[in-house]
Order: sequence, then structure tokens, then C-alpha cells
Amino acid sequence: MKAVVVNPKGKANIEVIEKELRPLKPGEALVDVEYCGVCHTDLHVAAGDFGKVDGRILGHEGIGIVSKVADGVTSLKIGDRVSIAWMFQACGRCEYCTTGRETFCRDVQNSGYSVDGGMAEQCIVTADYAVKVPEGLDPAQASSITCAGVTTYKAIKVADIKPGQWIVIYGCGGLGNLAIQYAKHVFNANVIAIDINDDKLALAKEIGADLTINPVTEGDADKVIQEQVGGAHAAVVTAVSKVAFNSAVNAVRACGKVIAVGLPSETMDLNIPRLVLDGIEVVGSLVGTRKDLEEAFQFGAEGKVVPIVQTRCLHEVQDIFEEMEQGKIQGRMVIDFKQHACHC
Ligand code: NAD
Ligand code: ZN
Ligand code: ZN
Repeated sequence: MKAVVVNPKGKANIEVIEKELRPLKPGEALVDVEYCGVCHTDLHVAAGDFGKVDGRILGHEGIGIVSKVADGVTSLKIGDRVSIAWMFQACGRCEYCTTGRETFCRDVQNSGYSVDGGMAEQCIVTADYAVKVPEGLDPAQASSITCAGVTTYKAIKVADIKPGQWIVIYGCGGLGNLAIQYAKHVFNANVIAIDINDDKLALAKEIGADLTINPVTEGDADKVIQEQVGGAHAAVVTAVSKVAFNSAVNAVRACGKVIAVGLPSETMDLNIPRLVLDGIEVVGSLVGTRKDLEEAFQFGAEGKVVPIVQTRCLHEVQDIFEEMEQGKIQGRMVIDFKQHACHC
């Protein structure tokens, strides 16, 4: 089968190769992949930002149909449409797994990073960790919720935002466009969107942002936010830039929360008197639990959030990685693995 793997010598640190999967182990299922989105995390993994994983099949925004189940599988059957998410499996027994924080399990395995992921014609999942896609949700759109959607839905939960409060979203890309929609249409918050590209801000406005700011042309976002709304109650930072993290700390009001989601390999500045005297909280948030994903899917199925996706052919994957690096993508590019018509 065709698969997108990490190769530091390839264009965009990846290449498309022929690769066979290992046999299924008990408790696992084989999934015929329909769609897999390209997340900025795939770029970090391919670049070796979290360690070298040459030859690994990338992808953790996958959706597909179960075609085979191994012994001991009771949660899935052949024909089910399921997710291939970052959390391949966790231990299920530790203090994190048993207290609703399974993504932080110390023994977690991650699709497209520590095990082979969904950017291939087929993928292995641990059956109990694959989440079923509800009826009525388009599978290409569902792929975007599998990481970008659940991550931002969870981050806003962590932000503990209340209806009518102000939340600022830094970065309006694949994650950010969904953060805006969940914040506005599920949590009923007032939303400020920040990006350095005007086309991203135009889209943000279209999907519900109340206020948009381009710090490159309109000055420091934090100053504008303090002036216009007296500071936000929370900030979710998806931008891959320390500048945005530093701005977020200054954009929130006293007792505001800064939820760190983006993963630039940098260090942020944290003014200690600002932190202490104003009671600011800075919290990291990592994807979401299986339950979070089930909820995030449901809001998609109900049409409260509509992922902005464009399907592309597998042979364009290296171009997609470069377009993402250059900030040229609106919403998400999703590789169509069913498209056998294109014999590329
Ligand atoms: P993306 O490339 O689609 O979007 C990033 C956006 O940030 C772009 O629109 C870009 O224009 C904007 N941006 C860049 N610099 C900015 C700045 N200084 N201020 C404001 N906006 C700026 O990427 P994505 O797929 O949305 O992923 C974003 C980040 O989130 C990546 O680092 C990714 O690894 C990370 N991520 C984290 C989790 C998690 O669980 N915490 C999950 C998925 C992705
Ligand atoms: Zn992701
Ligand atoms: Zn665990």
C-alpha cells in the first residue's frame, strides 16, 4: 500500500513509499483509510522536533472504515467508520488514565509519531481507542475534527469560558478556524481572532469571530484587546510562534487563563509579577480524550461547527506540507485515500 513516511532527505522531510503493515495483534482493527488531514504537528514530527522517527508513517487526522478485526475486539465491527487520532492507545490503568486525563498517560502511544499513523491506504488502530464517527457527519470534515477539532474543543473546555465572556484565539489556521467555531457556536463566547495573514482573518470573520486583529498591520494584539474589551477572559494559542504566546499573557484580564496548544520549539517569557499580582494561569492542553472526541464529532454532526476542508490527492502531499509551512492554507488540506482514479 502507499504510505507517507518521514524521510529527512525527501522534499518537506517526507516521501510516499510502498509499505506493508504488520499483522494485527489481539484487540486491534484494520482500517481502510478514506481521508487523512495534514496537521501542523505532522510537520513538527517530520522535522524531528520531538525526536527522530525516520520511516514512520505520519498522520493522526484519519478517518476510515474497519475492514478486519482481531481476536478480543468487542467495541468495533467490520464496516464501522472510525477515527485514527493522535492517541493510539494509553495504559488504561494509571492515575491519568483513570481520572479523565488519558492523553497525559506516561505510556501513551501516538499515531503518526510513536506508531504508524493514518497517512496511508490502511492503518492499524487499537479498537477501544478508535472513536466512531456519528451518522450525518461528512468523513472528510470528520478528519479535521479528529485532531484540530477535538484539540480546540478541549482547550476551550480547559479555559472554562462562560457564555458572553471574551476568548481570544491566536492563529486561525487548521486548529484556529475550529477554535473560533467551537468558542462561538458551542460555548457561546465572544471571540477575538488573531493572525498575521489577512486572508485567515477574513475567514475568521466569516465563521463567527466578533473582532479580528492582524498584529503586523494593526499593532500589538494585546494592547488592542485591553483597550477594546478590557482584556479577554481566556486565550487559546494555536500559533506556531513565541510572539503569540507572549502576547496572550498580556491579552487576558486579571485571573485570565492562557491555554497553550501550539508547539513552537521555543521558550516563552513569563513576567513573574504579572503572573502573581494578576493571578494569570498558563496551562498546556493536549488533544482530547475519547469522550472529548465523541462530543466534538457530535457538534460537527449537528452542524454547529463546519470544518473548512479541501480534499487533495496523495501525490500532492509534499506540496501541502510546504504550503502549510508558508502559511498559505485556509482551513485544512485533507488527503483523499479513496481516490484510486488518480494513478499517480
Ligand atoms: P496551521 O499552520 O494550520 O495554523 C497556524 C496559524 O498560525 C496560521 O494561520 C498562521 O498564519 C498563524 N500564525 C503564525 N504566526 C502567528 C503569530 N505570530 N500570531 C498569530 N498567528 C500566527 O497549524 P495548525 O495545524 O493549526 O497547528 C498549530 C499548532 O498547534 C502546531 O504547532 C501544532 O503542532 C499544534 N497542535 C497542538 C495540538 C495539541 O494537542 N496541543 C494538537 C494539534 C496541533
Ligand atoms: Zn494534529
Ligand atoms: Zn495510563
